[in-house]
Amino acid sequence: MHATRSPDIIVVGGGIVGTAAAAFLAQEGARVLLVERDGLASGASGANSGAVQHPFDPVLTQLYHPTLALYQALAEEAPGFRIDSRPAGLLLLAHDEATVRAEAAAMTSAYPYLATEVVGGAALQAIEPAMAPDVWGCLFDVAYPIAPGAGTYAYATLAEERGVVIRAGRAASLEVDGDRVAGVRVDGRLFRADAVLAAAGPGTSALLDPTGRWAPIAPVWGVVVETAHAAHAAHGGMVLESVEAYGPGGLNFHYVLCDGAGSVGSTHLDDEPVPADWIERVLLNAAGFVPAIADAAIRSVRCCPRPQSADGRPLIGWVPGLRGLAVCAGHGPWGVSTGPGSARLAADLLLGRSPIIPPELDPARFGAPRG
Ligand SMILES: Cc1cc2nc3c(=O)[nH]c(=O)nc-3n(C[C@H](O)[C@H](O)[C@H](O)COP(=O)(O)OP(=O)(O)OC[C@H]3O[C@@H](n4cnc5c(N)ncnc54)[C@H](O)[C@@H]3O)c2cc1C
Repeated sequence: MHATRSPDIIVVGGGIVGTAAAAFLAQEGARVLLVERDGLASGASGANSGAVQHPFDPVLTQLYHPTLALYQALAEEAPGFRIDSRPAGLLLLAHDEATVRAEAAAMTSAYPYLATEVVGGAALQAIEPAMAPDVWGCLFDVAYPIAPGAGTYAYATLAEERGVVIRAGRAASLEVDGDRVAGVRVDGRLFRADAVLAAAGPGTSALLDPTGRWAPIAPVWGVVVETAHAAHAAHGGMVLESVEAYGPGGLNFHYVLCDGAGSVGSTHLDDEPVPADWIERVLLNAAGFVPAIADAAIRSVRCCPRPQSADGRPLIGWVPGLRGLAVCAGHGPWGVSTGPGSARLAADLLLGRSPIIPPELDPARFGAPRG
């Protein structure tokens, strides 16, 4: 972009969605300004568990498959980004056999192409010696661990190489000219553009409707404890996840190994927690599945909000009521696995193409922000 000219498009948000969209837009010749409030990958895109995982929702699956292909392409282009060519495997776990068998049957019927195998007791321990003896698991040939912020940083680097200007600052409000968006006010300064993409994660609702009346995307806070890999040397690298309903605090077990670190999660909380208060509970819950986690060396604890939409699916498309304004946000717990595919659709829309966006993701299902 030439700094003296207005950008064609302003992207608000420097997470996986915003950086990927900016990189795609600039690749096609658009002049792009990306505005990020707290630093690239400062939200969930830098603090997640790091699993690119097949979602168990047929609509999200349509975003996952292109996302996987985009990550494979990114690994070719960006030297710092790595993703394996084969999945590590996913074990969905529970403490009773019936729950796991029911889950396996539901998955086989919904996704016949996913090979599944139910294993428990000694058979499970033969596959994964670190598992507790009373645990049952359903094995899927999916899930690719990646370093939590790696995709975002790689797309940001590509975006800058392609001419995107990345600016630190908070997009406080949209500038409106009649029925069109005309730009964004960033820390008191007006930046004009032909179009705006709101990719601000949990900050998207407030950006589009500062009155708070339209708020289909809300934060759901996740605490993840990072442990040293050495404590789980027996674990073969599969992604582990509990199928059982969340316990107190919305706690479910999720465990991803990547680059010598284990991400042990996680909470699902409406209010921002004190992360240190959750370390013991997260590890204790995890130790019910992998006992060695109780004694694992703790490296750090991280906490951030998932951008959770009211129906569990992202909003991708034009925002009703204001021409030139698009949104791509609300990916909840699935943004690493579906963000780049979503960003590709949003970029194509802004480039004047007619991408096929599943109608279930139309932002209009929540009405107009300024209606
Ligand atoms: C604990 C946890 C574990 C997770 N694990 C996984 C996983 O294993 N696999 C998976 O697929 N997904 C996972 N997720 C979900 C995934 O991390 C998110 O869905 C995804 O990162 C969302 O990306 P985003 O770009 O939409 O939003 P964000 O990452 O939230 O990025 C939005 C950015 O916008 C900026 N912003 C907000 N408002 C403004 C403003 N007004 N002006 C300027 N900038 C603004 C924010 O600072 C932020 O950097 C996890 C999430 C959590 C919390």
